[in-house]
Amino acid sequence: MKLATIRVDGSTRAARIDGELATVLEDFADVGAVLASDGLSRAAEATGRTLPAADLDFAPVVVNPGKIVCVGLNYRAHILEMGRPLPDFPVLFAKFSDSLLGAGDDIPLPPESESIDWEGELAVVIGSTVRRASAEHAAEAIAGYTIANDVSMRDWQFRTREWLQGKMWEASTPLGPVLATPDEIPADAHLVTAVNGIEKQRSDVHDLVHDPAGLVAYVSTITTLRPGDVILTGTPGGVGHARDPREYLAEGDVVAVSIDGIGTLSNRAVAEDRP
Ligand code: MG
Repeated sequence: MKLATIRVDGSTRAARIDGELATVLEDFADVGAVLASDGLSRAAEATGRTLPAADLDFAPVVVNPGKIVCVGLNYRAHILEMGRPLPDFPVLFAKFSDSLLGAGDDIPLPPESESIDWEGELAVVIGSTVRRASAEHAAEAIAGYTIANDVSMRDWQFRTREWLQGKMWEASTPLGPVLATPDEIPADAHLVTAVNGIEKQRSDVHDLVHDPAGLVAYVSTITTLRPGDVILTGTPGGVGHARDPREYLAEGDVVAVSIDGIGTLSNRAVAEDRP
């Protein structure tokens, strides 16, 4: 099953996507509300108003997650291209819901940064409350997967040893277009990031140093994870900052991140005027 959060009638609603049609789930303001009320079976059976899937205006798949936990270095090739040793433990940082964008939203390029980069990522969406989850319970706590673009202001990211200021920029992180339940993801799923149609990143999504269930177990050791919380699992090799010469996003660039079984998260970069 695929669920989205769409903007409709001046607010947001969850929707179930079945091919060309979206069924509006009138009782749920977003996918996070579906998960918080254990509503996946209701979502699966819902009937009612439908909209053409091609015309949808997507909000972030979870509009206001309680937690957005990100993994900094998790694909072997990306760790090596950034010149870092393979980590014994996941490198964690956080974002806030003000960072999130929907699929199709413009990505504002803030005038304060001159090195704005893409990071296509598989994102985990939590479906049940877990603390100190075993590996088995961690896997069961995953409601599904979506796509994130962890757009990073590299000049700000590397100002200090901690990266937060380059990662939590407002309106920097597209998340969507849909939550796909685990059964939708093929065993050989790949992530591909393209900028203006030119492929920049390609990786098997299973080629993670720390896999989704392992990350849920690890993060839930530290703090409770709740329905709608999101974990960004890290980006593979091919980011602009590691290219020679370096490449950064510019006005009008379109970044499309695709993962088999989920779909494509596409957003255009647009210069943000200095206020
Ligand atoms: Mg990242």
